[in-house]
Amino acid sequence: MSLSRNLSIDEIRFVISKINEYFYTNYEGIGHTNILDDDFEYFSEFHKFWEKYHKEILNPQIDDSQCSLVANVLHDVFIKYGRPPFYELYNTHALTAEEICKIRYFSANQDFRGSRDFEDLFEIYKDDPSVFDKENINQNPEDFLKNIGITSLSQNDKRVKYAITASKLVIDNKIEPYELLSFCQNDIEKVRNLLISNRGSGFGNKKTDMFLRDMVVLGVWRKPKNFDKIDVASDINTVKVALRSRILKTDIVLISSFLDIFCYQYGLIDDMNAKAWRRVWEIWKNKYPKECIESPCLIDYFAYRVIGKDFCKESLCIFKCESENHTFKWHSGRNKTCQICFKNKTKNKAYVLNKILPCTDTQGYIVIEKSNFVSGDNPLLPNLKECPFEVACKPKTDIFKKLNPPKSISILGQTGWESAKTRGNEGGGGLMS
Ligand SMILES: [Zn+2]
Repeated sequence: MSLSRNLSIDEIRFVISKINEYFYTNYEGIGHTNILDDDFEYFSEFHKFWEKYHKEILNPQIDDSQCSLVANVLHDVFIKYGRPPFYELYNTHALTAEEICKIRYFSANQDFRGSRDFEDLFEIYKDDPSVFDKENINQNPEDFLKNIGITSLSQNDKRVKYAITASKLVIDNKIEPYELLSFCQNDIEKVRNLLISNRGSGFGNKKTDMFLRDMVVLGVWRKPKNFDKIDVASDINTVKVALRSRILKTDIVLISSFLDIFCYQYGLIDDMNAKAWRRVWEIWKNKYPKECIESPCLIDYFAYRVIGKDFCKESLCIFKCESENHTFKWHSGRNKTCQICFKNKTKNKAYVLNKILPCTDTQGYIVIEKSNFVSGDNPLLPNLKECPFEVACKPKTDIFKKLNPPKSISILGQTGWESAKTRGNEGGGGLMS
């Protein structure tokens, strides 16, 4: 249907009601699907269809030749800047290994990811260590969540369950989180399986891999067995870098979360993303066995934090002067001044015309040079001029597409699809914030 109306209003009414019926409504007897160890009624006929065919339709593939290019990129970074870009994570405020592990164990499953959040938790611990006591958490999970600053009501039931289940594991086995590794005979893959099989604790693949990676990188656990079995902790930033560098490809661009509210696409891409980064690591390790990191999970910080969140975003701002005919590029969108006029000692305002990826422009160095990773205190990548992934992504050519990662919608909660369901003959339904 275009805006010019070739159909009669009755035909249009029919088409729209049928689209709605197919995608967004169900009926008595439509059947059930199993997710999160629970039965849920199918949301719609489309839900059933997408569950069965999403993989065949998206057809995600790992591209070995692109993986090889990215492996070279990471090896070059390793040779030029050493281990810090892969190992330097957070300021641990001089806490002991036992303390770091406890704080991380009880927060990783609650979706704390960024280093700033992490450092906030260390502060909370220093103020009152009893907040992270396993018995306290088990008996007063709501207080625990409040104390660590989680106030999101829509996911509260889920988080309470995570806190109880995660604390029960260590209480039942009479250990502290720090002792999980020795409890598992120093085998980190066994710890991984133990946490993931503890259903309802919030430790899925991603959060578990992130937690285990942190424990090794922060020196909490030294030289565990099977560290190379731990994957990159997949997230929207590592997926974004995987798609844009084409180590992971799909047959159609990813669909909107409006159509993937059941997260089949999200789950599939998440899983393939971890596999793609593992392939990069395998190629790197085969080619340069003596100049490589110990596990694919160590790629995570560099790919997610440095590339994904800092370099691979539209941060190169193109400004226009309000008074003269000046345009110029700048690293900060918060600038309000025409910098060309300013150089000529006049003060005029300027506004942002456009924001682009620094790698797609010959003056991208304006942004890269100003990154905290390049020119901050004690930078990880001193004197860098362009994103190291450029040789793999080729962002100045037509091959490059600025692809976006998938978004997920929660199954449960006030804005989840379980509460958005409606019967076809009743109408209504849907998400609201
Ligand atoms: Zn000007």
